[in-house]
Amino acid sequence: MFLRPLILLICVLLMSCTPSSSEKTPKAVLVIHGGAGWISRGSVSDSMEQAYVNTLKESLLKGRALIKSGGSSLDAVQIAIEHLEDSPLFNAGKGSVFTYNETNEMDSAIMDGATGNAGAATGIATIKNPIQVARAVLDHSVHVFLSGAGAEEFALEQGLTQVDSSYFFTQNNFDKLLEAKASMKEVKQDKLGTVGAVALDQNGNLAAGTSTGGMTNKRYGRIGDVPVIGAGTYAENGVCGISATGHGEYFIRYVVAHDIAARIKYANQSIEKASSEVIENLKTNGGLGGVIGLDATGTVVMPFNTKGMFRGYISLDGEPVVALYSDD
Ligand code: ASP
Repeated sequence: MFLRPLILLICVLLMSCTPSSSEKTPKAVLVIHGGAGWISRGSVSDSMEQAYVNTLKESLLKGRALIKSGGSSLDAVQIAIEHLEDSPLFNAGKGSVFTYNETNEMDSAIMDGATGNAGAATGIATIKNPIQVARAVLDHSVHVFLSGAGAEEFALEQGLTQVDSSYFFTQNNFDKLLEAKASMKEVKQDKLGTVGAVALDQNGNLAAGTSTGGMTNKRYGRIGDVPVIGAGTYAENGVCGISATGHGEYFIRYVVAHDIAARIKYANQSIEKASSEVIENLKTNGGLGGVIGLDATGTVVMPFNTKGMFRGYISLDGEPVVALYSDD
């Protein structure tokens, strides 16, 4: 007679002792990436590896400081991305890769999960921090997405810093372009470096942003997933914030960032399940890359299907956690 309640009690006790999957997943207020690709352990020098780790940590600390002082997730995303754009190590801003025509054409996007507002820009050639163009579009324009000369003119009207196009020259990226041209590779994704950030502030607001030089040897005028809201960048309060990196054409076709949000919102999936399934499906369909994300409770995800993805997260009070390779 009392066997059934006893079994039930044992089950309840067992369940309460077994950590749920979200308890095992770290929580954070900021998660960033510095690109996904084919760099594996041993393929970059120790000092380069350390430089990547240090720059990612600095970016996390800057963004977290802002959140800690009561700042918005939108500002934290922007400041974290600006730090990475100013480094020649990443394929965004200063370290952007070259088009076939030996020019730099940068894409960026930022989205505010609290309001659903977004700003995006493509074909940026002379604005020092492309993420600032996206932010200015969000804050000061009735539009969501500006391109090329129109985007640059708008950025200048907003007082953003313009640089000579030679600012974006790095020998390493130029050599990669020559290599890609010589090997007749249409586009090249072996260099890590697109950057992105997702933040959750103390008011519970989510934001996401992404910035990139695109893919080495891309055709001029090519637009990747980064500035396409819902593909490379997406944020919605109560659901998740996502920033992607990888072969943009696939991320656009599979609407990756919004697919993850939709699974959470409509199919009640956890962010862990939603993001890992989407990245796994992408691989099955030939798409390489990964995403970073936070859900409404700050659960961190960073799934990828390449050898490495430069990535890291930080909580309100903890130390920055940074990883580079798949076995980290
Ligand atoms: N997703 C970027 C693009 O296709 C490239 C990258 O993330 O490496 O433009």
